[in-house]
Amino acid sequence: MNRVRAAAPSLAGLTPYDPKYLPAEAFLSANENPRDVDDELRALVAERIARVPFNRYPDPLAGGLRDLIAEANGLERECVLIGNGGDELLFDLALAWGGPGRTCLNFPPTFSVYAANARLTNTTVVDIARRDDFSIDEGATFERLAVGDIDYVIVASPNNPTGLRAPADFLERLLDATDALVMVDEAYFEFSRQTVRPLLATHQNLVILRTFSKAFSLAGVRLGYILANPVVIREFIKVRQPYSVDAVSQVVGEVVFEHRARFEPGIREIIEERGRVAEALRATPGIVPFPSDSNWILLRMEDAGDAWEYLYEHGVLVRDFSATPLLEGCLRVTMGTPEQNDRFISLLRAFVAERGSRRAQAARD
Ligand code: PMP
Repeated sequence: MNRVRAAAPSLAGLTPYDPKYLPAEAFLSANENPRDVDDELRALVAERIARVPFNRYPDPLAGGLRDLIAEANGLERECVLIGNGGDELLFDLALAWGGPGRTCLNFPPTFSVYAANARLTNTTVVDIARRDDFSIDEGATFERLAVGDIDYVIVASPNNPTGLRAPADFLERLLDATDALVMVDEAYFEFSRQTVRPLLATHQNLVILRTFSKAFSLAGVRLGYILANPVVIREFIKVRQPYSVDAVSQVVGEVVFEHRARFEPGIREIIEERGRVAEALRATPGIVPFPSDSNWILLRMEDAGDAWEYLYEHGVLVRDFSATPLLEGCLRVTMGTPEQNDRFISLLRAFVAERGSRRAQAARD
């Protein structure tokens, strides 16, 4: 058999992003919405899909959806760009503002895709580790920015997987302090109810990332978007794949966005569940939940890896971060339906109780 020559050197040692796509009864691992798009909306979507010409390429810039999003945000269409999920736009950011000889600022622990994209594009990553409470070290950030070599910065707000949003006044000072492009990743802003969108009017170096995957129940459809100054959008358009957003996704997005008010009760339920689950976790000995502005809770405990196994064996899939630097002993649980959350809480309590009795037994032996 003929052999193949080696892939690009930048791929050596890279491990592909692994979302731990495992079968389970309750998926509480990927920060998805536990409720699917309702039947009435699905019927509207089906009607619109029936009229999509499959033999034609889609509108490259998804004009219909772009206009809907622009209007809802009080912006011109030139300030909006739709992507194949937020993930595509994150990659476009690294292509357009990163590259060999370029540098980005990152605040770990955070969404691992940011650093992976930088590595793929041979962009240097400067890490400013978060403090023990996962807040951003502002002093170190401004000191590093003052060097003047940072080309782009990504701040997730709320930050995945830790949970809290970045303070609004910090984000404004950050934008004022640099001409680097600052991406504020608001993938979960519907759950924090906070946005830096008003700062677009005064800051050309701001780009906001949003997604349809979380609050709008469309993780399977792959739609995300950015809001930015047209000067920034034009650079993203240069690097993007021309037809990355297919015609079917465009119409699904249009119908869902037109009816976005329908998702409000679900969002409110998730926010309420977040409070209820956090309280139950605080009341469980040995579990330390971190505060969250999002649709998940990060928690720290002893034997987190074993707890993950126990939950999984009982049908509940959560995300294990216990082997991730700065997140030792941490699991992340996405807010599911109240029933799924109850199941998660009772299983976790059973794990803690069984472990307690195993230890008591071992001490007696
Ligand atoms: N940003 C953050 C912080 C995320 O957690 C995710 C999804 N895991 C994304 C962006 C991208 O989401 P999507 O590609 O589904 O739009």
